[in-house]
Amino acid sequence: MNYNHEHKAERIGWIRAVVLGANDGIVSTASLIAGVAASQAVTDNLFVVGLAGLVAGAMSMAAGEYVSVSSQTDIERAELALEQNHIEENWELEVQELALIYRGRGLKPDLADQVARQLMAKDALGSHARDELGITDLAQGQPLQAALFSALSFSAGAALPLLTLLVVSGAMVVPAVAVVSLVALGTLGSVAAAVGGASKLKAAGRVLFWGTLAMVVSSGIGQLFHLSV
Ligand SMILES: [Zn+2]
Repeated sequence: MNYNHEHKAERIGWIRAVVLGANDGIVSTASLIAGVAASQAVTDNLFVVGLAGLVAGAMSMAAGEYVSVSSQTDIERAELALEQNHIEENWELEVQELALIYRGRGLKPDLADQVARQLMAKDALGSHARDELGITDLAQGQPLQAALFSALSFSAGAALPLLTLLVVSGAMVVPAVAVVSLVALGTLGSVAAAVGGASKLKAAGRVLFWGTLAMVVSSGIGQLFHLSV
């Protein structure tokens, strides 16, 4: 029997971030182009509109990711500092606290006490971070890297509908952008699912549904403005 099965959860973290960023880029840029094209407010400069959408989206992704990762890191640092204080001032109380957690998970009181003492002897803060606070990856948050990563993946996704504009024009813009975007979304969704070991069909179906909805709503609103002008 082979117990050497591979866990995929670790790899999924950053792949998920890249796929999410690219999805965002495709859906928002394609919807923007579809909306503006349907309104016929702009016909010559659709590319500029799309490019502005790409830049705005990438910057907003970067800012959002930076703030989110930074504040998460700040919160974890503050919690760890507090925990370190407790450990220094109240060692015995912290042993009991940890032992109580292990009893809650099913260990007998004596054993829980023993486990808590041995783990704390080796790495007091680490054992509390893991089992009490649920912080497993100490100081893993890298806000700048996360910001760059999301901005790049968003831009890569947004580039697809944008490049379509270089090839087609006029009445073909909306259908072409829609087809290119949906094919890209479906491919991305099923590749991500395959890497994560999940159902490809389900993943592609989900992302296609939301992508289609976004474009239909956007072009519907654009058409509404076109009719009312
Ligand atoms: Zn503690």
